[in-house]
Amino acid sequence: MTTDILIRETAPAPVPDRAGEGIRVVPGRACGTCSLCCKVVGVEELAKPIGAWCLHCVRGKGCAIYDARPPSCRRFHCQWLLADGLGPEWKPERAKFALLKSENGRHLTAFVDPGFPSAWRRSPYYENLKQWAADGARNLADLHLVNVMIGPRCTVILPDRDVDLGILGADEMIRLEPSGIGEIIEVKKIRRQSE
Ligand code: SF4
Ligand code: SF4
Repeated sequence: MTTDILIRETAPAPVPDRAGEGIRVVPGRACGTCSLCCKVVGVEELAKPIGAWCLHCVRGKGCAIYDARPPSCRRFHCQWLLADGLGPEWKPERAKFALLKSENGRHLTAFVDPGFPSAWRRSPYYENLKQWAADGARNLADLHLVNVMIGPRCTVILPDRDVDLGILGADEMIRLEPSGIGEIIEVKKIRRQSE
């Protein structure tokens, strides 16, 4: 049994107030002065690379083309906006990374500010990422993935180790596979089929 994960690097957006877009944002939370997703995540429609500021971002204020921003920006909500359990220390402008869930919750990615590449290793972040990785590996038949992206560089977090996969190409995805030796999980990059 294998689990193949496609990293979608599209989807940023700094929006001061997303109410009314059909998404349940935790009451009292708003992007405010945070714009970090406009740096750490890529935007396919704009050909904006992952890990570089969007040319339309006015830092500390928001999006200069807010009404005309691309669909992936409109859809983007980081986990800090959505998850009650994440306290103020998880706000991306403070944590220096933005958490994004995808694949129906089976995939959690920390998109880290390349200016603070070790941010995810600090406490309380690293121990939580490690715990989520352990939770996601509990069912070997349905592995959940936790990974870190610093620009295009990908590290997969596993219960027993972290695996630096190097640059993850646009045509590559991650494969998780039980090794058959206890609970050790193997991780590798594979070429993805065209969609
Ligand atoms: S278009 Fe606007 S919302 Fe989208 S990444 Fe750029 S600044 Fe952010
Ligand atoms: S990272 Fe989250 S809080 Fe920060 S601007 Fe993006 S959506 Fe808003």
